[in-house]
Amino acid sequence: MTKLSDQYLTFDNSEGLIDSHLYDMILDCFNKSYKGICDMFNYGELRKTSIVPAPDYDGVAATYSGEAKVIMSTKYYAKNKLDADSLTHEWIHVAQNYDHFEPGWLTEGLADYGREKFGIYNKEAGWSLPKYNEKQHYTNAYRVTAAFLVWLEDNVCKDIAWKLNDVMKRNVYTDQCWVEFTGKTVDELWADYAKANS
Ligand SMILES: [Zn+2]
Repeated sequence: MTKLSDQYLTFDNSEGLIDSHLYDMILDCFNKSYKGICDMFNYGELRKTSIVPAPDYDGVAATYSGEAKVIMSTKYYAKNKLDADSLTHEWIHVAQNYDHFEPGWLTEGLADYGREKFGIYNKEAGWSLPKYNEKQHYTNAYRVTAAFLVWLEDNVCKDIAWKLNDVMKRNVYTDQCWVEFTGKTVDELWADYAKANS
């Protein structure tokens, strides 16, 4: 059987820059979740994508959305050999492929929301969504925003993430979208989230 990774992923590790077990985990993640990611974040269209190990990059991983290219820091992954699903986060950026990244907190919140939904090895990597605390705000991005989105999905609007991604893709996102989808502003929703989790 042809694997999704044979058709849609270029990941050359011939120089052995990425630990071979981690490499296998990343391929496993791709084969298990890339279709679901593209269904959710790219209307079902599978984009061909690539991963390039980057010895000079000091971050974790980054996506060049236009080229559907992901770079991964060899330094970071040498120390974090189970963090395969950080690539899941990046593949969501590949699928999002927004013209405009802003608001960045929402783009990153949706990517971590997707990592929570589609991740295979989050537990192994010690990665999970945080519980609410009063120091948080929805604009914190990443996991904080993702936890808020999961709560909204469970309690307010079951396809909120799909809808937000859709308006981001069509470049028509405004604050008013929250009101359209839920009847409340994002600040009101955040207040409800805080109240329900305090
Ligand atoms: Zn990101």
